Amino acid sequence: MNLKIGVIKGDGIGPEIVTEAMKVLDKVGEVYGHTLDYDQLLMGGASIDVHGVPLTDDTIRRAKECDAVLMGSIGGDAKTSPWYQLEPDKRPEAGLLKIRKALNLFANLRPAVLYEELKGACPLKEEITEGGFDMMIMRELTGGLYFGERRTVEENGVMTAYDSLTYNENEIRRIAKRAFDIAMKRRRKVTSVDKANVLDSSRLWRKVVEEVAGEYPEVTLEHMLVDNCAMQLVKDPKQFDVILTENMFGDILSDEASMVTGSIGMLASASLNETKFGLYEPSGGSAPDIAGKGIANPIATILSAAMMLRFSFDLDAEADAIEKAVADVLREGWRTIDIMSDGKSQVGTEKMGDLIAAHIA
Ligand code: NAD
Repeated sequence: MNLKIGVIKGDGIGPEIVTEAMKVLDKVGEVYGHTLDYDQLLMGGASIDVHGVPLTDDTIRRAKECDAVLMGSIGGDAKTSPWYQLEPDKRPEAGLLKIRKALNLFANLRPAVLYEELKGACPLKEEITEGGFDMMIMRELTGGLYFGERRTVEENGVMTAYDSLTYNENEIRRIAKRAFDIAMKRRRKVTSVDKANVLDSSRLWRKVVEEVAGEYPEVTLEHMLVDNCAMQLVKDPKQFDVILTENMFGDILSDEASMVTGSIGMLASASLNETKFGLYEPSGGSAPDIAGKGIANPIATILSAAMMLRFSFDLDAEADAIEKAVADVLREGWRTIDIMSDGKSQVGTEKMGDLIAAHIA
């Protein structure tokens, strides 16, 4: 198969961690007989340095010509970087918002996996985490409260602020379908999270999700109120497979779920649109505090590349091979500094990439 992949190395640790993910992808290509065709794209601070803006229209055009985009992270130290002297719409992060909009990326996927080998980093009790857990949070990314009408007005001498939470049935249907499709590749369970006891938008959400569930008889659907879900994530995280939820609930729950897994350097993510196209990136930022030191953990980016193979290219065996290689390397005791613990062997970014690539067979 020929895979055309846009690569945005980005800023800070971005180039270091993306280089390792490409090393692993190249090894997958070699072992499984795929041709990888990379188009290196500039975004964020790296684009500001060359073009004066964080994302050019030409870069968007080239990204659209790719089957998927693999990204590091963008941005610098807000206190010291000259990029933050610019107007807000010219700063590195503006590129991220612009590309998400231009590519219509409405579904954000964040896996929260607790590896047996890293369970020491999990703040939950051992009896809860025994055997690890593996869930996927699917958050709607372009609607809801963050994109609704808002205003602040003075009413009868009292300052009053309004934010509106709006979803139409089409927006709900397209993300629900995505969640059920992904559940079909996993343990076939969707937990749809809402606040249907209070909110009209949640009642519509529930109705549409139930309609979509009718098209997926092999998938079990359950509904859960968001307050209960926040509790269940720390009480019994093993019960979840795919969690489907709207923008703000997903923002909060995905952070909660990722915290219970341990290090930010392990957290992959994907943003998808209605086609097979996706933007794949680690959940963390550009970590300017450790950039250039060769110590950043590349695993989140490598696991994001595995998600890319699974969701944009339907290469499940290849994605499984990467995930297994990561688990094997961890089991053998290799650790970057952020996940280091007593008795383990500390390695840098490049060595971690070498080890994972070497385990792809
Ligand atoms: P950050 O995620 O970059 O760093 C937070 C902490 O986690 C730091 O101590 C860092 O060293 C550590 N860390 C992050 N990734 C790591 C990795 N792979 N291995 C080891 N340690 C890692 O968050 P921040 O410091 O708040 O933000 C730094 C910059 O990143 C800012 O400019 C911010 O806007 C940007 N940012 C970009 C994205 C993105 O590109 N999607 C996301 C979040 C933040």
